[in-house]
Amino acid sequence: MSSPTPNSTFTTPPLDRTTVATLISTSLSARPPLPFPTPTTLTTLTPTLLSHLPPTGHPPTTLSHLLTLPPAFSSPLLTPAFYAFVTGSTLPIAAAADNLATALDCNVAVHDRGASLATTIEAHTLTMLTELLRLSPEVWGGRAITPGATGSNILAMATARDALLDRRLKASGSAETVASAGIVGACVQAGVKGVQILGAAAHSSVYKAAGVLGLGRGNVRDVGVEGEPWRLDLEKVRREAGREAGREGWVSVVVVGMGEVNTGRYFGGEEEMKGLKGCLEEVAKGRAWIHVDGAFGIFARSLPETEEFASLRASSEGLQYADSITADCHKALNTPYASAILLTRTETDLNNVCNNGAAAYLKTSATDPIPSPLNHGLENSRRFSALPIYAVLHAHGREGLALLFATQVRLARAVASMVKELEAYELLPTAEVAEVGTIVLFRLRDQGRNEELLGRINDQNRIYVSGTSWEGRPAVRVAVSGWEMDVEKDTSVIREVLKAAE
Ligand SMILES: *Cc1c(COP(=O)(O)O)cnc(C)c1O
Repeated sequence: MSSPTPNSTFTTPPLDRTTVATLISTSLSARPPLPFPTPTTLTTLTPTLLSHLPPTGHPPTTLSHLLTLPPAFSSPLLTPAFYAFVTGSTLPIAAAADNLATALDCNVAVHDRGASLATTIEAHTLTMLTELLRLSPEVWGGRAITPGATGSNILAMATARDALLDRRLKASGSAETVASAGIVGACVQAGVKGVQILGAAAHSSVYKAAGVLGLGRGNVRDVGVEGEPWRLDLEKVRREAGREAGREGWVSVVVVGMGEVNTGRYFGGEEEMKGLKGCLEEVAKGRAWIHVDGAFGIFARSLPETEEFASLRASSEGLQYADSITADCHKALNTPYASAILLTRTETDLNNVCNNGAAAYLKTSATDPIPSPLNHGLENSRRFSALPIYAVLHAHGREGLALLFATQVRLARAVASMVKELEAYELLPTAEVAEVGTIVLFRLRDQGRNEELLGRINDQNRIYVSGTSWEGRPAVRVAVSGWEMDVEKDTSVIREVLKAAE
């Protein structure tokens, strides 16, 4: 291999932005409007990929190589009929803002008022998102952008762990914190035997958080109601968080699901949350934290205040009893990925976990009310994810977004009603259309034909749904989370597909 001559310097050919934009849009429009690549596309394109570092590059061919690849990627964006997962799509204005952030290579680690407005925009965006969720920015003073609801849940579990153990340390007269002494040291000093997580059909990312944070996946306990697994059973909570289960000396993080992934259902609402808080006050005072995982379901709070959505809105009430809240923007809000938030009651909660104080060159002003994101979020250097969210909030406001969320619910409910009317199908988990949010779960009544149902639906290449298991048997899920919807037309297409798949 030849080495560069001592006086050569790195160069790369300039790319004209207009040409690139045209090439990308041509390549995308040439792509078939299917969310998943065909097997032939995958077989043809796999051998064209680089898998080992080439000794020399070839800049003139790289762009054209990249432009051959779009047909090999899955993209819900390219078909509004993608109902397989709660992924959301991307609003055009959000994509524009995301490209702008990339074009400028913005970093939002440190707030420096004199250097950039990016962190100010991020702070304003977080305030506005809190308002969108009908929460008070004064009450929810800890606000962080995260890479997704998984990131939010990991940060939430870390925050809960530190807050709960720090409280016990303080009560035992110690000046240490989890941040200084570590989990093991903190538990030993405070006489805490363990940290457990209680949930009802908690999202898989909660188990991941328990693993990542050293709390133990085995210490996530399901305390769901028999037959309604998305609902916390307060008797079980009382037993597990109190003294009866033999875990005296443990602290508990209770995860409340607002929008369970199979059914879209909620724990309850104001009364249930109050009941949970009361139960924990009784059996685990000062030893429990309530986290709400509302990745997509929490946006029910932003639905129009009409009778049509009254029950869904009521299911998302009771957040005054919560200590932390997860919401995903890259789902229902239709921003691109790496876009979610975590809310806590004080910024100190987040700061205890994330403070990056060691680097003197990153010191920021002590008097500026806008904090540096690196001291309350998981990442230090990070992309400017708030810009696409800001763009969506600017473009649509409270009313426009209420209509977006309303249309998602209306489409899901129209599909649920239609499924209910088809004799061959059974709507799950109950036949109540009024309880449907944005996810419709169903299966064929003929059990023998359910195994292949998913294939018979998706192979028609008109809509894309996902399979799941409900009460131990296969079922299918239509998840509505995009922005391009026509309730009547989309429902009739789904009806035709389901009829053909019976
Ligand atoms: C999607 C989802 C998550 C994980 O979100 P990511 O954005 O994929 O990290 C967590 N909890 C719930 C309830 C979800 O729906």
